[in-house]
Amino acid sequence: MAKQTKKKRKQLIAEKRELAMIEGILEGSPDGIGVVVVRLECGCRKMAAVAIDGEPASKVIIYRDGAESVCEKCKDDGGAFMRVTESFIHWVDPEPSEDEKNIIYSKVLGSTPH
Ligand SMILES: [Zn+2]
Repeated sequence: MAKQTKKKRKQLIAEKRELAMIEGILEGSPDGIGVVVVRLECGCRKMAAVAIDGEPASKVIIYRDGAESVCEKCKDDGGAFMRVTESFIHWVDPEPSEDEKNIIYSKVLGSTPH
């Protein structure tokens, strides 16, 4: 089979450890229809629930797995955008329509997943 040249956006799925955080965030955010997950190069994570209109539905939470606090860099810059390696939205079931997703994506992450 020929090598695929078309670049497909990597389907990002929350890791088990992230899912635990996501569930906790959603419990405290009744308006949340999803959680924005931002992975930073240092290993810290930033998360926030998002409402159907793309507005934040919770406070932004920044944490580091297995550590009492985030790393020194994040303490400094609060998880700066330039150090983000991956970001995606974990949707609550039932997921919003593709159109709604795209609107929320562009509002929250500044780009659509396509
Ligand atoms: Zn960090």
